[in-house]
Amino acid sequence: HARMHHLGYAVFDPSYSHAQAARLVMIGELRHAIENNGLRLYLQPKIDMRSGAVCGAEGLVRWMHEKRGIVGPNEFIALAEQTMLIKPLTEWVIDAALRLQQEWLHTRCAVPIAINLSAVNLRDAGLPEALRALRTERGSARGMLEIELTESMLMEDAEHALQVLAGLRDDGVPLHIDDFGTGYSSLSYLSRLPVDCIKIDRSFVNDMLHNENAARIVRSTIDLAHDLGCKVVAEGVESREHWDRLASFGCDIAQGFFIAKPMAAQDFPGWMEAFQAP
Ligand code: C2E
Ligand code: CA
Ligand code: CA
Ligand code: CA
Repeated sequence: HARMHHLGYAVFDPSYSHAQAARLVMIGELRHAIENNGLRLYLQPKIDMRSGAVCGAEGLVRWMHEKRGIVGPNEFIALAEQTMLIKPLTEWVIDAALRLQQEWLHTRCAVPIAINLSAVNLRDAGLPEALRALRTERGSARGMLEIELTESMLMEDAEHALQVLAGLRDDGVPLHIDDFGTGYSSLSYLSRLPVDCIKIDRSFVNDMLHNENAARIVRSTIDLAHDLGCKVVAEGVESREHWDRLASFGCDIAQGFFIAKPMAAQDFPGWMEAFQAP
């Protein structure tokens, strides 16, 4: 009788909600996935718009869930950040990218891979050393691993960010600004931070064809970036129209469904083989 009572209490205590229970289960499952090869690194190619060559890829993480199938990062990155699982997750992602590059050395698949860092990673004082150790272990050449950070992450603690990023740059890890134009930034950080490339957010690319102001923003952002010595990636390039308009603005690199959706790493060599420039 006493045991029944105890079980009933655990299940019906109103403060212990179903949502909390589900969250705890998910944290455990995510930890298990990180530690037991339950994640996959997908790759989405980036194309040099002038030469038509594949000039890189973005690494995008997926969780192969036993019951739910392929789960996208929007479903679990925030949870990973709240629980500090983001640290081992990011290290897994970086190492997965470096392992692929090791395997693909001297093949046409040997292109730089950009990985996404979270603000929590940037606050971690051990990040530069962890990156250095992983890159040394895998024999990663300068420029082959790139990082993508959003503007808001840089604004959070600009002084610290500046220090970390200058160090990574010295180590040969270029910085790309992700989702450019969606933050509240003053743009002034572009003159202070070692930025190699900006990625125009796909909302601008999407609006550009039917909204002349969005088109002007894209065009002047490209000019500004070039004046500052940065390259420009357009994300969310979904059609020939997007491609042509961006090319007319002098955009350097295109990424989006018009080229390819993110794909499992094992499909990348075959895709490269068949790829023809638009
Ligand atoms: P993001 O960095 O802005 O990545 C681009 C997202 O846009 C990807 O979604 C990609 O699949 C999608 N996308 C690419 N081309 C197109 C297009 O032409 N049209 C449209 N509509 N969408 C396109 P995904 O893979 O679901 O990733 C979502 C976000 O999750 C990423 O946004 C990034 O912020 C985050 N993320 C992904 N992988 C990682 C990771 O390893 N670590 C961290 N911290 N965050 C990650
Ligand atoms: Ca990104
Ligand atoms: Ca983005
Ligand atoms: Ca985004």
